[in-house]
Amino acid sequence: MNNTRPLAILGAAPAFAEPLYVGRPNIGDRERLMARLNDMLDRRWLTNNGPYVQELERELEKMMSVKHCIAMCNATIALEIAIRALELKGEVIIPSFTFIATAHALQWQEITPVFCDVDPATHNLDPRRIEELITPRTTGIIGVHVWGRPCDTTALAEIAQRHQLKLLFDAAHAFGCTTDGRHIGNFGDVEVFSFHATKFFNAFEGGAVTTNDDALAAKIRLMKNFGFSGYDNVVYIGTNGKMSEASAVMALTSLESMDNFIATNRANHETYVASCADLPGLKLVRYDDSERNNYQYVVVEVNESQTGLSRDELIRVLHAENVIARRYFYPGCHRMEPYRSFFPHARLLLPDTEALADRVLVLPTGTAVNSRDVDSIGDILYSAIANAPAVRTHAERGGK
Ligand SMILES: *Cc1c(COP(=O)(O)O)cnc(C)c1O
Repeated sequence: MNNTRPLAILGAAPAFAEPLYVGRPNIGDRERLMARLNDMLDRRWLTNNGPYVQELERELEKMMSVKHCIAMCNATIALEIAIRALELKGEVIIPSFTFIATAHALQWQEITPVFCDVDPATHNLDPRRIEELITPRTTGIIGVHVWGRPCDTTALAEIAQRHQLKLLFDAAHAFGCTTDGRHIGNFGDVEVFSFHATKFFNAFEGGAVTTNDDALAAKIRLMKNFGFSGYDNVVYIGTNGKMSEASAVMALTSLESMDNFIATNRANHETYVASCADLPGLKLVRYDDSERNNYQYVVVEVNESQTGLSRDELIRVLHAENVIARRYFYPGCHRMEPYRSFFPHARLLLPDTEALADRVLVLPTGTAVNSRDVDSIGDILYSAIANAPAVRTHAERGGK
């Protein structure tokens, strides 16, 4: 199925003249976008809970069948506000295999993130490892739906209930995904989405909090607007978490094209599966086709003893071809500052996280990538593995 091709790392011309990036933005219908932007300018209502933000919130509530969606400027601030609204303090259990913002949103408010290992089969928080980390200071758990694959929401909810902990989900990867037919956005006390440009669905910059708890939603709404409850009356410490109208316009336009984005990602993912199926030592993360997924992440686990090449050597091969593959969540939050200095021994409890961070490779997809591109990437991987000894020699010399 795969063809051998001359490799750029061994001196051939790169497969792609222009770089292919992971997380190149998906962009909806330009004319619809421009029409809405013009409307926004005509109205001179640019932020502060404008009509487009309100429309977006109602559309997302409908889509996810959730009671409350609160649009925000980004997911990091949304996490900080959700954490504050739930009155978390002391320690909160999170995975280390996540984007650094999950940890920073806690540490920023002087709450200690306690890193829990992941299940190597799902890449998500391992429910079997949580209870050993609970102390009298623990107030919550934040699960992360990594790659949009849902956490074990049932097991986490049981643990949270048993220990009277709050349960949040960082759903930055999981917009448009379901589990047991129910939309992500409905689990735990709150869920937080990111609409950053590199995410499947973007608002330039943006995010949202969803919850089915009326009182919590009301509190979060106040907190994202400095704590103002009407003119001249502040009732909480708040911050500025507001989404601008321009971002809401982009999000509404993205929403209209969401099914197209998913279809493209899914077709690319299937092509990747087909073109990598016979490659020794490469395991593609699969999605449950009976659920809704956004297929935004093409994730390969590299087994070096079978490929003859490490994950980083394969990345060097791909970069030479202008395929800008990425390591993900490498080296893990616990090996970055300030957490590395705070918890120098954290790694002893995180063997599966470290092994995963050392073998995961993420490949380009999205509407900027087509199935011919994916076929070529499959050929590159095939050729790299077929020529592993020569590639390794060049890679060691820092070959480009
Ligand atoms: C992208 C991301 C965030 C941060 O989102 P922003 O909207 O950029 O603040 C948080 N957590 C995870 C898991 C992410 O992937």
